Amino acid sequence: MGDCFEEIAAGLAAVARGFHARGWLLGTSGNLSAVVQREPLQIAMSPSCVDKGELCAEQLLSIDENARIIGQQGGKPSDESLLHIRIVNERGAGAVLHTHSIWNTILSDLYAVDGGIKIEGYEMLKGLQGVRTHEHAEWLPIVENSQDMPALAETIAATLNQHKAAHGFLLRRHGLYSWGENLAQAKRHIEILEFLLEAIGRTSNMRNHSR
Ligand SMILES: [Zn+2]
Repeated sequence: MGDCFEEIAAGLAAVARGFHARGWLLGTSGNLSAVVQREPLQIAMSPSCVDKGELCAEQLLSIDENARIIGQQGGKPSDESLLHIRIVNERGAGAVLHTHSIWNTILSDLYAVDGGIKIEGYEMLKGLQGVRTHEHAEWLPIVENSQDMPALAETIAATLNQHKAAHGFLLRRHGLYSWGENLAQAKRHIEILEFLLEAIGRTSNMRNHSR
C-alpha cells in the first residue's frame, strides 16, 4: 500500500469525523469506503465497531473484491463492506458513504410503503451530479433492511439497475447510502440528501402541527 492508500484513508477519516460531529454516525454506526485501485479491486474501508468521531487514517482497512483484508492488518472491516463493493461495481463509484441520521431513519420508515421518496422542487437538488434545475425529481428508493449481506447486496444491485438515475437509496429504519466518482463528490451527495431529507421531515412535521 503506497501513498495513495494513506491519502485516501486520511480523507475518509476526516469525512467520518465531520459526519459524526453532525450526528450522522453515532454509536459506531455507519461506514465509509473509497477505491484505491480497480484492477484488481482494492478498497479503503472503515473498520467495524469503531467510534467514527475518533477515526484516524491508520484504522482504515484495505480490502479486496470479496471484502477480505489485504495484507497483515489487524481489525475487522465493516459488516456492510459487501454492499459498498456492490455499489462500486454497479455504479463505477470511487467512494461510497453510509450514514445513520435521525431524519434518514425516520423517513426511510415513513415512506417505505411507497417504495421510495420523490424529492422535487428544491434548489439543493442541484448539488447532485448532473442535476441542473430545482425542477428535477429525484427518486430515492427504499430497500427493506436485512442482516443477510449477500442477499441484501443482490437486492441493492437490482434496485440500482431499476433506478439508474438515483444518487442514493435508503435502507428501511437503518440509513442512507450515497456515492460519487470520488470522495469529495460522495460527501457532497450525502450532505445534499441529508439536507433534503431533514427539510422534508421538518416540513411534514410543521404541516401536521399547524392543522
Ligand atoms: Zn448501517
